[in-house]
Amino acid sequence: MFKIPLKIRLLLFFPSPSIFLSMGLCCYCRDKTGFWKKSCLDCVKLQEALDSLEKGGTFGYNELLTCFFDTGVSSEKIKLFLETDLTGKGALRDRIVARMTNEIMEGLGTPSTIDSEKAKKIREEIKKLFLEKEVPE
Ligand SMILES: [Zn+2]
Repeated sequence: MFKIPLKIRLLLFFPSPSIFLSMGLCCYCRDKTGFWKKSCLDCVKLQEALDSLEKGGTFGYNELLTCFFDTGVSSEKIKLFLETDLTGKGALRDRIVARMTNEIMEGLGTPSTIDSEKAKKIREEIKKLFLEKEVPE
């Protein structure tokens, strides 16, 4: 019979403590939620606003922000919602930047296939470039 190694068995019974630390906290803004809930009421509102925009087809950054501000959620939470990268493949803002870039490039006649992961990489490289640049005295 197949025997499960002890290390795996221990992991099944004692998962990483970070799981317990993040329980009851919103995955976007880290605010308190119900124990089993993934996101707080404000972030649920933002997600619903985003879903309704995505159903309507294509939209720009300005329309997105207007839609988010209309929900009445604080700008701090909106910022966190845009920046949270749940999958590790780019945050919402990277996804939107990638889509808009592709649309613009297609309009210019040179189609591009930038995805959110690539947009995230470019954003991080630009950030690093500015951080490394020495400030003249
Ligand atoms: Zn939240």
